Amino acid sequence: MKHLTGLKRKRKISSAHRIKVQYSCIHTHTTYCDGADDIETCCLMAQKKGLQSLGFSAHAPITKKMGIRTYWHLRDEKLNEYIDAVRAAKKRWEGKLPIYLGLEVDFIPGIIGPADRDYHSMDLDFIIGSVHYVIPQRGEPFTVDDSEENVDRGIMESYNGDPLRMVEEYYNSLLAMIRAGGFDLLGHPDLVKKNNSGSRLFSEDEKFYREKTSAIADLMAGEGIPSEINSGGINRGKIKDCYPSLNFLKLFRERGIPMVINADAHRADDLDGHYHEARESLLAAGYAETFLFGGRKNNKPVWISAKL
Ligand SMILES: [Zn+2]
Ligand SMILES: [Zn+2]
Repeated sequence: MKHLTGLKRKRKISSAHRIKVQYSCIHTHTTYCDGADDIETCCLMAQKKGLQSLGFSAHAPITKKMGIRTYWHLRDEKLNEYIDAVRAAKKRWEGKLPIYLGLEVDFIPGIIGPADRDYHSMDLDFIIGSVHYVIPQRGEPFTVDDSEENVDRGIMESYNGDPLRMVEEYYNSLLAMIRAGGFDLLGHPDLVKKNNSGSRLFSEDEKFYREKTSAIADLMAGEGIPSEINSGGINRGKIKDCYPSLNFLKLFRERGIPMVINADAHRADDLDGHYHEARESLLAAGYAETFLFGGRKNNKPVWISAKL
């Protein structure tokens, strides 16, 4: 009996202190790339979930620039159709739900990157800059968030079986992308941990890892650009926490880097997936606020503070 009363009291206190947090998602993939649902389904779900806004961020086409075709990028020939479709949704939802047009752009030095001129003549609302590929000196480029099997093969074939060299290259690429600029939001800054369950590839306690993540945080601090905290790895059942990890997030916090909560949704259902964990991580790192995208004014992104 005593135990039950204790529980009841506990619940009462926590609900009295609960703050209604405002959420959004501007990292959303639809059937135009590797998402499962179409634009309208995502809009309806975002409204149902009570999100403040919704931004679409198809994987920018890569075939013309890189010469390879993947299943997960928007096709070059579909780019205009995608842009028109998101703009049409923007109109349809006017006054009901702010809809934003964006792209998630890969970075491969000299081949593709958010700083490329073409993205800046498309009248996009925002660009997410993301590193997915590592480009080994020998062997084929591969994505660090591919299947465990493919990543392990890439490490064997191109990095002499040394995962740390692959991790290091991933962060070097991220540093190069930040230096090159052209993006409004940094995408999943430690995506390389997606295949690192049980620290099977590297330990986040290693000196080199701390140095690399500190270098990223230092560079971001000078840019005034927010980073996302991305629950996509949990939504896809691959990892148990968000990108970036708590220790990495603390480095961002110490340098005052603004954070934006995103789901990296590949299904409408995931549009606010595991936001509770994202919020808890931000609080644990010492953050008191997050930022919502508020569109673009004078060719600059507008970020609105929201209490956590
Ligand atoms: Zn991504
Ligand atoms: Zn994504």
